[in-house]
Amino acid sequence: MNSLIQNYNHLIKQVRVLELKYKRIPNSVTILAVSKRHTLESIEALHNATGHLQFGENVVQEAVEKIQTTTLELDWHFIGNIQSNKTALISRHFNFVHSIDRFKIAERLSNQRPPELSKLNVCIEVNLSSEPQKSGVPLINIEELAEELIKLPNLKLRGLMAIPEKTDNFDLQRKTFAKLYQAQDSLINSGFELDVLSMGMSHDFEAAIAEGATMIRVGTGIFGARN
Ligand SMILES: *Cc1c(COP(=O)(O)O)cnc(C)c1O
Repeated sequence: MNSLIQNYNHLIKQVRVLELKYKRIPNSVTILAVSKRHTLESIEALHNATGHLQFGENVVQEAVEKIQTTTLELDWHFIGNIQSNKTALISRHFNFVHSIDRFKIAERLSNQRPPELSKLNVCIEVNLSSEPQKSGVPLINIEELAEELIKLPNLKLRGLMAIPEKTDNFDLQRKTFAKLYQAQDSLINSGFELDVLSMGMSHDFEAAIAEGATMIRVGTGIFGARN
């Protein structure tokens, strides 16, 4: 448990240093603690020691179990692939979905959002690799999907998200993240009001911060290796 808190505090310090290094606005990068396949005990321990609120999960059933068990009011983000038969649960239990890649899924999430809850925040997941089998929307189709999403009454489009192919080459990491930044920038120039650029994981968050990430999604770097 101690190392969990130490990892987290170390990560926060690193992020603050990287904001300075890359001339980002102080405190403009937030951390999504990716808690998939880690226990609710670890999540609660992290929250209780640090006040951290934002947690990311990618398996609906596992996440809903944690959400229904905890008495804490946490900010739950869904970051995994979305099957049609899971949209009702996601829409009911999460505040934010990072992985929208089809209109049909978005429409179901909007229709199924319980009326007492505020709009569900969403990002469009972008496929930066142009491998057709990878999830995410190709760059050329983002604006068309964004136009459709902003018409859905119970969703709020916040920005873009991507999971690039893993590489240890820092310059390549930066080049890839820069593409997502440019895509977001061109949407903003077309009039979309976007404030979340969800990119960067444990192995590449420095490059993501260098290229304008506003939310990094870190699992291993906080919780250690997954079970
Ligand atoms: C698992 C996961 C992460 C975190 O990965 P780590 O390498 O453990 O930091 C981030 N984003 C998504 C979409 C994930 O599925």
